Amino acid sequence: MLVPEASVKSFYNFLKEKKIMGTKCRDCGEIYLPPRPLCPRCIKSNLEWVELEGKGKLVAFTSIAVAPTHMLNAGHSRDNPYVYGLVKLDSGPTISGLILVDAKNPEKVEIGTKVTAEFIKRDDRVILGFKPS
Ligand SMILES: [Zn+2]
Repeated sequence: MLVPEASVKSFYNFLKEKKIMGTKCRDCGEIYLPPRPLCPRCIKSNLEWVELEGKGKLVAFTSIAVAPTHMLNAGHSRDNPYVYGLVKLDSGPTISGLILVDAKNPEKVEIGTKVTAEFIKRDDRVILGFKPS
């Protein structure tokens, strides 16, 4: 079996298959997302791939009105902001992604909201998003 390199690139390739893949240290059990090839706690590369369920809680977010180029190309602007945030997955690790809520009314978004992963196709790649469960 061909084992992909534990990297951010592999993470994005797995998103195309609608999989959130991290690496888990076989020694201490820590899960890394995006995947790492080395456990910084054990200083060992005894890790394995694990698929993580796309369920978690929103722990931080921001509404972005001044967008980078790839988000401008996706139709966002000062008049069409988007929300980006951090989600702590039920399996442990925290990952960033688009938060699929009404970005024009960010005061309605609450920390602790349960969210589910969405795989969003953008041009030739897939990015991770989360919508309230
Ligand atoms: Zn470890």
